[in-house]
Amino acid sequence: MINLVPLRAQSVSIGRKVAWDETGAAGYINPRQLIEAQLIAAQTRGATVIREVVASLEVHGDEVLIRSREGGELRAGKALLTTGGYSNTLLRRKLDLPTKSHTILLAEVSPEQIDGLRGMPSIISSFAHPEVESLYMLPPVRYPDGKTYIKLGPSSRDEQFIDARDNDRELLPWFQSDGNALTATDLKAALQRMIPYLQVLAYQTVPCLITYSAHGAPYIDALEAGRLYVTTAGNGMGAKSSDEIGRIGALLCATGEWRSDLNREDFRAVYADGGSK
Ligand SMILES: Cc1cc2nc3c(=O)[nH]c(=O)nc-3n(C[C@H](O)[C@H](O)[C@H](O)COP(=O)(O)OP(=O)(O)OC[C@H]3O[C@@H](n4cnc5c(N)ncnc54)[C@H](O)[C@@H]3O)c2cc1C
Repeated sequence: MINLVPLRAQSVSIGRKVAWDETGAAGYINPRQLIEAQLIAAQTRGATVIREVVASLEVHGDEVLIRSREGGELRAGKALLTTGGYSNTLLRRKLDLPTKSHTILLAEVSPEQIDGLRGMPSIISSFAHPEVESLYMLPPVRYPDGKTYIKLGPSSRDEQFIDARDNDRELLPWFQSDGNALTATDLKAALQRMIPYLQVLAYQTVPCLITYSAHGAPYIDALEAGRLYVTTAGNGMGAKSSDEIGRIGALLCATGEWRSDLNREDFRAVYADGGSK
């Protein structure tokens, strides 16, 4: 167990451990609010949001035909595919997109305890446990169900690769499960160790996915004949950079140009058959 000591831009050693406490503008991004803000920004600039599930995506000559499960049909000059772990379900030639199960734990905090936890930082920690290599933990956040939870997630050795290649039914059993029970037990132990006085009202486990690329950077690339583009494979780090990944991908799709000072080659799509374009 180590204690965090408030320091700016330097570390503190406690025994053989080192802790960094980042003050100032350090914090966390609420993913639901991030997506809401991104949708508002897109709609303000003229985008139309269609809340349907894409069933197929086909390039025919100079158009992309998009059919939805709800029966909708769209013909577009170009399309940008951004469907995360579901990307391969819509692609003829599959991407190298290993997708790993990930279990998170939500610990419900009582309203009386929330005030006392206001100063709690977001934590990333190594955790000497046989199954959990490291973890992250967020301070209490209010969720859409009106309850407030501390969220923990591990980097676990016991999670499984589940690659959805042909259709999203391959992911259903995982998403209909309660996640990995062993991971949840380890996370509960870690939480109790880090905040021993915490009284948890109830625990929930949530099954999630993390999608990886072959080279560790996201895929931002043109696929079929310049009609179909892709931004996918966040490697567990895509949220914080999603504005910029989306900007580069959208401009590549709209103009055919790579408008970034990052090296385009670092973001090439790699296919499951080993090839790039
Ligand atoms: C538990 C957890 C914690 C994470 N923590 C962090 C973090 O701290 N920092 C960070 O930067 N990143 C984090 N990540 C990673 C980050 O969430 C991802 O890298 C990022 O969300 C990937 O963005 P994406 O747009 O490619 O895919 P997604 O966010 O998965 O979005 C894909 C979208 O496509 C939609 N979709 C899928 N199939 C279809 C279809 N057929 N038709 C229509 N829509 C479809 C889905 O509904 C979804 O809205 C975390 C991920 C997990 C699971």
